[in-house]
Amino acid sequence: MNEQYDIIIIGAGVTGSAIARELSCFDCKVLVLEKDEDLCCGTSKANSGIVHAGYDAKPGTFKARMNLRGNQMMPSLCEELDIPFKQIGSLVVCTDESQRSGITELFERGISNGVPDMKILEADEVRELEPNISDDVVCALYAPTAGIICPFRLNIALAECANQNGVEFRFDCPVTSIESSASGFIVHSYDSVFECSVVVNCAGCHADEIHNMVSGNKLHITPRRGDYILLDRSCEGFVNHVIFPQPTKLGKGILVTPTVHGNILAGPTAIDNDSRDEAPLTSEGIAKVLEGTAKNVKGLPVKQVITGFSGLRAHEDGGEFILEEVSDCPGFFDCVGIESPGLTACPAIGEYMARLIADKLSLSLKAFWNSECKDIVKPFELSDEERSALISSHPEYGKIICRCETITEGEIIDAVKRPLGARSLDGVKRRTRAGMGRCQGGFCSPRVMEIISRELGVPLDTVTKNGGSSKILTGRTKDES
Ligand SMILES: Cc1cc2nc3c(=O)[nH]c(=O)nc-3n(C[C@H](O)[C@H](O)[C@H](O)COP(=O)(O)OP(=O)(O)OC[C@H]3O[C@@H](n4cnc5c(N)ncnc54)[C@H](O)[C@@H]3O)c2cc1C
Repeated sequence: MNEQYDIIIIGAGVTGSAIARELSCFDCKVLVLEKDEDLCCGTSKANSGIVHAGYDAKPGTFKARMNLRGNQMMPSLCEELDIPFKQIGSLVVCTDESQRSGITELFERGISNGVPDMKILEADEVRELEPNISDDVVCALYAPTAGIICPFRLNIALAECANQNGVEFRFDCPVTSIESSASGFIVHSYDSVFECSVVVNCAGCHADEIHNMVSGNKLHITPRRGDYILLDRSCEGFVNHVIFPQPTKLGKGILVTPTVHGNILAGPTAIDNDSRDEAPLTSEGIAKVLEGTAKNVKGLPVKQVITGFSGLRAHEDGGEFILEEVSDCPGFFDCVGIESPGLTACPAIGEYMARLIADKLSLSLKAFWNSECKDIVKPFELSDEERSALISSHPEYGKIICRCETITEGEIIDAVKRPLGARSLDGVKRRTRAGMGRCQGGFCSPRVMEIISRELGVPLDTVTKNGGSSKILTGRTKDES
């Protein structure tokens, strides 16, 4: 007998997780299938972490509507789900008088999209806000409702909240084929088979492949890579707003921004990529980031770069979010082409798609739904008295494992043991920040591996960096016999 669900969501990035959370307030059985070993393994793990104000997208498009609504929903969502978020505002900088009209156009588009409180600032006003801005600055579009967010916690918190309200998640479970049946769909993954009435396709860079399994109207996604460099927290204050160049047809351009944790982030590039899963950072990419950054800010402290990474945009040929029931496959819902501003838009996409699906299945609301979800307790965010009390009752919160980010054993145990917990080094890193500091896990990784091994009761040499074949220990250097 195949396992039966009302709804199967494919993909546990921010889009799938946001829809799962919204659906979890209805009376229905929901399963999320994820091909990787954890939440937040696709595009949602490698992006700029900006909550865009909403002046970029063409008025009337899904991109514009979902951006604005997502931006409006984000402050209260972050309160409910304990997600680090700061509404620091953004500046789109013009460094050439001949391009001033581009800033006016963006301003007008922002007004049409409903973005509040924007202003065009002149050079002196921009310099006052950002002393490290380029000497060539002419003017800038200021949007105070833009913000920065922890993309990992956003993804994980949405999924944890859905899970505490009854949504099931299966990892290492790629959807390999989908058949229509009398009552809906039969979904295959290796040796597992599931049945459901509705499928929701949130498969990121693979969403066209999933769509094309059931529809004659083919879609096509180009994975477009974005490379970044990340600077140490000692550079905090180098910029105080999100600093964008003027956008081009390839995207919003190379930005410089603080992160919610006090680092400085610069990037991304926009380079078409062969793979839908692997996004290698190249020296060419880093050079482009440095070149782009230098146009808008002066004196980026490049000696403080602690790491680089790349993410992949799921660029669909039409360049728009596709959010709909597929016309030639009733009951199959697409969320395809969710490139930027997908992170900002995800709460709005969740709300919109859940409404379409609830109407389709005539779902009724549950009597009780818990909209809130707490993050891991962070002893160094507590008062001295609270921290002492915590360490007295739970001594593991007094043992520092990651010295760069001051992360304790208690936090890592919580990351592993909580529902939908971490099973790999990267899983712990995304939940706690252990390994995200200056030494990039050079010192703490072996200790974190020991904790994962002990808490999950698995041999140390089976603990991976990020699932699959990413083993860290490949054999013994000494024979113990
Ligand atoms: C460089 C870059 C910068 C960006 N910056 C921003 C920003 O600052 N602000 C903003 O708003 N947006 C930004 N975005 C966009 C944002 O990151 C994405 O829109 C968002 O993360 C997409 O989430 P998703 O859940 O749709 O996709 P993903 O996070 O990719 O999730 C899809 C999931 O589906 C899974 N999957 C795929 N195939 C299968 C299968 N066959 N079976 C089961 N599971 C499957 C994948 O493993 C993955 O986990 C940026 C994107 C990039 C690349």
